[in-house]
Amino acid sequence: NASRLLGKTVLITGASSGIGAATAVLFAKVNAFSLIPIIPSLIVQAGSNILLLARREDALKTVQQACVAAHKESGLKEGGHFAPIQLDVSDKAAIASLWSKVPSSLRNVDILVNNAGYVIGRDYVGDIDESIVEGMFATNVLGLIAMTQLLLKDFKARKTGHVINIGSIAGLEAYVGGSIYCATKFAVNAFTTSMRKELVDTPIRVTEIQPGMVETEFSLVRFKGDTNAAKSVYTGIQPLTGEDIAEEIVWAASRPPHVNIAEQLIFPVNQA
Ligand code: NDP
Repeated sequence: NASRLLGKTVLITGASSGIGAATAVLFAKVNAFSLIPIIPSLIVQAGSNILLLARREDALKTVQQACVAAHKESGLKEGGHFAPIQLDVSDKAAIASLWSKVPSSLRNVDILVNNAGYVIGRDYVGDIDESIVEGMFATNVLGLIAMTQLLLKDFKARKTGHVINIGSIAGLEAYVGGSIYCATKFAVNAFTTSMRKELVDTPIRVTEIQPGMVETEFSLVRFKGDTNAAKSVYTGIQPLTGEDIAEEIVWAASRPPHVNIAEQLIFPVNQA
């Protein structure tokens, strides 16, 4: 029921492409559509608000425009605030000063989508540079934890909130060539499960979405822009799209307040 998302403010990390961008656009649409049955005077108060975070500012602005367009296409003229904010989640100082970059009207975040993450290479562990190891842990694990801790302070004070972490099948099943990436996603899984258990006496919800193969910029980043290598991972498989995962995220966020979707594992039909 999309009306449960009315007036919510969503913060999405890694919103400049792939799953994060698709999730932003879907939240923009769903909130807008859900306003239609409501009396016109409420429309002004009820637009969707989305904080779009990532490192690439230009890409964030493009996603912001897509959110505005999605909101407009739904027929509403009011509501909807989509703020692009440049942030590297591996930069602790930048996270500590995040609120100074957020307009005061958008500081009451209701839903945190911890989506920023990447993998480089598919190599034997003995051949992986320390900088690659540290970079992946700094973003996929430490960045996700730091963002969560920042928002939890606020969620606890306001007795509300939903943390949605993007894990992976790589956080449940390790594979050859995935030592570091799998370790980061296993860490996300352990962190998310512990946190959910720690918060059971509060109204704060904790969800982990665990995608299989999704065709985004992920594979291009993994193979450093080599498009043939990036495409080759999908041989014989029709991969999921960012939109497929966005639907799961928005669905989990729109359950009634007493329902917590703890985990969702989502595969392409022909991925083993
Ligand atoms: P994309 O490469 O399309 O998106 C990754 C996003 O993360 C980008 O917006 C990127 O933005 C952002 N990002 C990366 N590093 C940082 C950083 N240090 N600080 C802030 N933002 C950062 O890939 P996906 O959409 O596929 O990936 C999203 C999530 O889904 C990741 O956590 C990934 O591990 C997970 N996942 C992906 C799967 C897949 O097959 N695609 C499968 C399972 C899980 P920018 O470069 O502008 O900072």
